[in-house]
Amino acid sequence: MNPTPHHPSSSAASAHSTAAVIGSGFGGLALAMRLQAAGVQTTVFESRDKPGGRAYVYHDQGFTFDAGPTVITDPSALEELFALSGRRLSDYVELLPVEPFYRLCWEDGSTLDYANDQEALDAQLRALSPADVEGYQRFLAYSRAVFEEGYRKLGTVPFLQFRNMVAAGPALVQLQAWRSVYSKVASFIENEKLRQAFSFHSLLVGGNPFETSSIYALIHALEREWGVWFPRGGTGALVQGMVRCFEDMGGTLRLSTPVERIEVEGGRATAVVAGGVRHAVDQVASNADVVHTYEQLLGHTPRGAAEAKRLRRKRFSMSLFVVHFGLSKPQPQLRHHTVCFGARYRELIHDIFHGSAIPEDFSLYLHTPCATDPSLAPPGCSSHYVLAPVPHLGNAPVDWSVEGPRLRERIFDYLEQHYIPGLRESLVTSRIFTPEDFRGELNAHLGSAFSLEPVLTQSAWFRTHNRDAAIPNLYVVGAGTHPGAGVPGVVGSAKATAGLMLEEFA
Ligand SMILES: Cc1cc2nc3c(=O)[nH]c(=O)nc-3n(C[C@H](O)[C@H](O)[C@H](O)COP(=O)(O)OP(=O)(O)OC[C@H]3O[C@@H](n4cnc5c(N)ncnc54)[C@H](O)[C@@H]3O)c2cc1C
Repeated sequence: MNPTPHHPSSSAASAHSTAAVIGSGFGGLALAMRLQAAGVQTTVFESRDKPGGRAYVYHDQGFTFDAGPTVITDPSALEELFALSGRRLSDYVELLPVEPFYRLCWEDGSTLDYANDQEALDAQLRALSPADVEGYQRFLAYSRAVFEEGYRKLGTVPFLQFRNMVAAGPALVQLQAWRSVYSKVASFIENEKLRQAFSFHSLLVGGNPFETSSIYALIHALEREWGVWFPRGGTGALVQGMVRCFEDMGGTLRLSTPVERIEVEGGRATAVVAGGVRHAVDQVASNADVVHTYEQLLGHTPRGAAEAKRLRRKRFSMSLFVVHFGLSKPQPQLRHHTVCFGARYRELIHDIFHGSAIPEDFSLYLHTPCATDPSLAPPGCSSHYVLAPVPHLGNAPVDWSVEGPRLRERIFDYLEQHYIPGLRESLVTSRIFTPEDFRGELNAHLGSAFSLEPVLTQSAWFRTHNRDAAIPNLYVVGAGTHPGAGVPGVVGSAKATAGLMLEEFA
């Protein structure tokens, strides 16, 4: 196995070294913090008016709506970013524990409060399926073994060489990484509901549980290891904390500044061009969508055109349809995170990943942040979002300006029936975010919510490399690179990328 890349100390980077990071998603911000902490004068260019990328924030009539990530895991990876400059995460943002981690609900009214309390969990497993209490223990042991290999050992390794992949091979074979998450879970657990409960996690990083590698079963152990957290003030408060720490170190964030082009001269990236202005730098890292990076920002170079063509042939994750809504009443019956399983599981997921239309039914994730932090809504009110995974625009070229409002009504009907009686009577505000918005606002190829689909043949060395193969001072960080989507994933990708970038200065 490769060791975690060592970061040269701040003295390694010359006082005049400069870097541009394109995009302020979690991956871009984590990379910028690492570079700036090591003495590289770093500028982040962000096309939108607020930082965070998928973790954008809407403020509306006193409601705060986090647009994207809400399940914050592995706080140690975040703490490490602040510690690089002798600071503490807790000086910038408070992380609140979330219990239960999730409430899982089925249409027949059965529920499972998935929590870190083993006794409480066992009692619920026993109630649903006595035979699976022991099977769950074997699944947990498997998940922990994959977590050790796939996350602790390989999660921050830059897979630049095929030999990195070969080195990881024996462990992958031993862990049966060619099997799907669902098939592996099903080998331990009999009950269909529990199979769903312990296999849906890969959807959180854009993976189809029936096709993605069982390596992604590690998310379960990751949650059990460090818990599930939520920043006071919402995920946006974590983004703001990272930005403030970066700026306190002397870094620069330029909002509303889309990069139009990466200039390449003599085989090296020399500058980024934004608003017609050329910013010369020693190194360029893109946190933007990988296809956008190569096609739009580097499309004028042979390398950009060739790599974009190669990437476009890959499989991309599904998209999401998200409704943010504020209610004039509290919703004490809801937990912070609710997964609402619909009647179909395997078939619905097939339609989401391979279908050519919006499915008739849905499974939903319902966010109720006021359960942990009531400050996210006006007193006595409740802020929410609900999301449904949907096909990306390459599979289902839907006119979302028509279908979006219709789907919102269908989802509201469903929520009124099963989870929030009287929803419409207390509705103060709502907004939708569709696959077209992922494409238009975030430059996401095909409107995918999670970039390249995390299947084994698109993982590790097979994913976009953190350092470009032809332009040695051009780097890529974020969901389209190893280890993939999700906050811990992209923060890990930033660690791998920073290691490579700082090596250049060593
Ligand atoms: C609705 C939703 C819910 C999620 N929930 C969770 C969760 O609970 N937990 C979890 O861990 N993960 C979750 N995820 C996944 C996670 O949010 C993402 O994988 C992760 O945040 C992506 O980070 P990134 O570094 O790849 O950058 P992104 O967030 O993709 O940001 C890229 C940035 O680049 C900018 N950009 C693009 N082009 C340009 C340009 N030309 N010039 C300048 N800037 C540009 C974009 O505006 C954007 O700000 C969720 C995702 C979504 C969409």
